[in-house]
Amino acid sequence: MIISAARVFPVTSPSAAYAGVRVTGGVIREVGPIGELLRTHPKERHLAFPDSVLIPGLVNAHTHLEYSLFRTMARPTDFLPWIRGLVRASRLRDSFWGASHWEKAAASGIRRCLRSGITAIGDVVTYGASPVVAQRAGIRMRAYLEAVALAGSSSEESLPRLESALSSDTFLSPRIAPGLSPHSIYTLSPQVLSALRSLAGRRSLPLGMHVGETRHEQDLLRGRGPLAPQVRRWGLPFGPSFRGSLAGYLEEHGLLSTKTLLFHGTHLTDRDLSKIAASGATMVTCPRSNALLRCGIPDYQRWRKAGIRFVYGTDSLASVPDFDLFEEARLVRRSLPESGSVILRRLTLGAAEALGLAGSGSLEAGRDADLALLRIPAGSAATEEDVVTQGAVSRIAATVVGGRLLYRRRSREAAAIRREG
Ligand SMILES: [Zn+2]
Repeated sequence: MIISAARVFPVTSPSAAYAGVRVTGGVIREVGPIGELLRTHPKERHLAFPDSVLIPGLVNAHTHLEYSLFRTMARPTDFLPWIRGLVRASRLRDSFWGASHWEKAAASGIRRCLRSGITAIGDVVTYGASPVVAQRAGIRMRAYLEAVALAGSSSEESLPRLESALSSDTFLSPRIAPGLSPHSIYTLSPQVLSALRSLAGRRSLPLGMHVGETRHEQDLLRGRGPLAPQVRRWGLPFGPSFRGSLAGYLEEHGLLSTKTLLFHGTHLTDRDLSKIAASGATMVTCPRSNALLRCGIPDYQRWRKAGIRFVYGTDSLASVPDFDLFEEARLVRRSLPESGSVILRRLTLGAAEALGLAGSGSLEAGRDADLALLRIPAGSAATEEDVVTQGAVSRIAATVVGGRLLYRRRSREAAAIRREG
């Protein structure tokens, strides 16, 4: 199959007008001028998108697809009442409908991701549903299996459950890769954090963890604020005499490495930031969710000074209205001016690398054919800057994962003809 567009942005090489990719077996075989591709492969099926530009598929580095049916919760609320509401709503759904609810929610989330040009997802999995549904749907995923509140039960009981989930057939699929997500420092005991670290080490799994999402986590270290009761509940070593830092605590438990993703990092000290930067961990920023939950958004200038590596995520539909990664990137750019090409790279290759999805994120021969087509008025003259400033869910024309066309926007005329017919 040949897929062509008015302009192609490979990300790892300069963009080109009237170009395309040739795809077989789910892999990009060639990137080049349309005329040449058609001449050398005249019998190939040709999908032409003359009104669009072709970019690598977008990568959403942080979400919880199983919460996709909690959309009414995405309204301005303080973080703690919001998360308590989320836990209550989840328990209710789980007791009434169990797995069928989580599968339906994950399927709805995946459809929305595909409509948003997203071809790969870093998903935090609480109920086991999203990797199974993702595998069926054909989208790519790093599934971080979540460990939350394991401190209530002994790690001997809970870890085998995670181990057996990791042995699921779903992870035999080349598109679905496992990871572990110790939820946060305030929902897991130090013993469980260390046990999770060993499990990740034994299985060579990357980690994804919520860190510094609210200012309450910094208060907790000193035994203050609304999370302070957790000190006793989970046996956390915090209090007025605790001299360590948030990132120091993660480091002590072996949780910081080049294979670690840290979600949010809204409230971190300079000491935290320099430790995180030195560890090679990557931060995932989700500023729209942070703003909605009144957490404030990260100080990106301080991130830059500390040398933090970061990519974008949306978080779940329980705290954002949609999966528009361009909106997240533009919100970051308000306080951290960066060029269109740097941002496009973060949205695609940077995030794929952060998730350890080695084959995705750029348009080159030998890479996975994960593609998004975006309708941009500038057409063949479009630049990376146009892609970043005009990119939007409503402009996604098609999404391809592993060479399969998983979403194609119906044109208004075609929809009208179908309705009349
Ligand atoms: Zn999250």
